[in-house]
Amino acid sequence: MICAEGLRKRYAATEALRGIDLDVPAGTVCGLVGPNGAGKTTTVRILATLLRPDGGRAEVAGLDVVRDAARLRFRIGLAGQHAAVDELLTGRRNLELFGRLYHLSRARARSRAEELLERFGLAAAGRRLVRTYSGGMRRRLDLAASLIVAPPVLFMDEPTAGLDPRSRRELWDALRDLVREGTTLLLTTQYLDEADHLADQVVVLREGRVAAAGSPGELKRQVGGDRVQIVFRHPGDAAAALGALGPMSGPTSGPTSAPTSGPTSGLAFEPGGTRVTLPAPDGAQSLVRVARALDVAGIAVEDLALRRPTLDEVFLHLTA
Ligand code: ATP
Repeated sequence: MICAEGLRKRYAATEALRGIDLDVPAGTVCGLVGPNGAGKTTTVRILATLLRPDGGRAEVAGLDVVRDAARLRFRIGLAGQHAAVDELLTGRRNLELFGRLYHLSRARARSRAEELLERFGLAAAGRRLVRTYSGGMRRRLDLAASLIVAPPVLFMDEPTAGLDPRSRRELWDALRDLVREGTTLLLTTQYLDEADHLADQVVVLREGRVAAAGSPGELKRQVGGDRVQIVFRHPGDAAAALGALGPMSGPTSGPTSAPTSGPTSGLAFEPGGTRVTLPAPDGAQSLVRVARALDVAGIAVEDLALRRPTLDEVFLHLTA
């Protein structure tokens, strides 16, 4: 549904995109992540026909983003980084205005506004001026505005920036419902948990290039496997524990003088410290075995957990 090949874009001296390829199947979610300035917004603006690429090509819903831009605009929705709604109008009037801009009749614009207010939990607030809305309500209204013509493809640039955890989850639920109904969604985000929750495919951009792409699970596997993390009650128990765990400790990379912070699949501990990290090749079963061995050896633990790689670690690894 979204396909890009070798997209390039330069702003004066800045090469913002240096050849971006994307392939997003219909009815799926693609999460574009990357550090500030990596080219996420530029990519979205090109795909949404707001910017012309200097090189490469892209099609959305089967239409070329340059040649067929006018037709394509009726088939896409875009919610940018800042809510595009008018503070001095009511929520309802905002949606009616967007409907009219999409050439809906007055009556159709009104009924579509009603439907969308209802859908996004804004029916009661529909007659209030938007300047009295909370950040979460504005975002929902902005999303509603981008859906006026029920587009098959939706672009969202940092949809939940600045929202509290409850508002974020409500917006995620709304987005999931849309995707379940067949919408294809491409979103940029700084929140890796957002990409993890929503995206079928995560594309990591760095300096205008694709640094990595894959499902959240595939990307996490690239930075290492599961680990067991033990925090001992008494400093210095690490050495005794390693004796008790024996071969379970796996390939030893030796004592490290600093606690591990990055991805690792090996053993890490501080001599005389209270923490040990072990590889967990069998996932939860490894955790059970470690717990049993520590219990038999009578070693007290403060905390014991199975740690799975997070997208944060993937991000730090790929964009360091
Ligand atoms: P952020 O996470 O900060 O929103 P981004 O990944 O969306 O960043 P872009 O906004 O696409 O990144 O910017 C990519 C690069 O292009 C940056 O170096 C930015 O400074 C530059 N850039 C973007 N827009 C313009 C512009 N209109 N004129 C000049 N340079 C620009």
